[in-house]
Amino acid sequence: QSENLDTTVLLLDLEKAYDKPDGVQRGLIAEIISRFEKKGFYLRGMKLMDVKKALGEQHYAEHEGKPFFPGLVKYICSGPVVAMVWEGPNVVASGRQMIGATKPHESAAGTIRGDYALTVGRNLIHGSDAVESAKKEIALWFPEGLSQWKSCQHPWIYE
Ligand code: UDP
Repeated sequence: QSENLDTTVLLLDLEKAYDKPDGVQRGLIAEIISRFEKKGFYLRGMKLMDVKKALGEQHYAEHEGKPFFPGLVKYICSGPVVAMVWEGPNVVASGRQMIGATKPHESAAGTIRGDYALTVGRNLIHGSDAVESAKKEIALWFPEGLSQWKSCQHPWIYE
């Protein structure tokens, strides 16, 4: 924890992302984490967790009433997920780019969904769509708080 980092954090976006159950089942966790890690984003929180129905419904509340909602909640509760918080400049926008479009067949090659997913209902990973929703999702998934640390590589990644 350093004063420099605290100052920087004010300028940074926070992103909440998680590997959905298929990411865990298919052994793609390390690959997905690795992409965010190598990019230079800060990992602020991470845990493997079983998602209870109430949390799944709360997380996807904006989709309540849509035909795919029951299946979506069932899917997200169907096995453990890896919940993560990543931080860095424009991480919400960059993270969404790295994840790819919602429908895997529309995701560019090189994105996580473009490379590893085929169908919308098994698209591997969620990423917050805005800084405001990231804040809400972080509060929902990480009520215990996050870790603040500074990488020894910091000056070689952050100008
Ligand atoms: N979804 C689905 N069918 C649809 C649209 C969405 O199963 O027709 C699922 C899909 O897993 C998606 C999630 O609902 O990732 C949330 O939808 P959103 O539009 O927020 O997409 P995302 O932000 O995950 O790209």
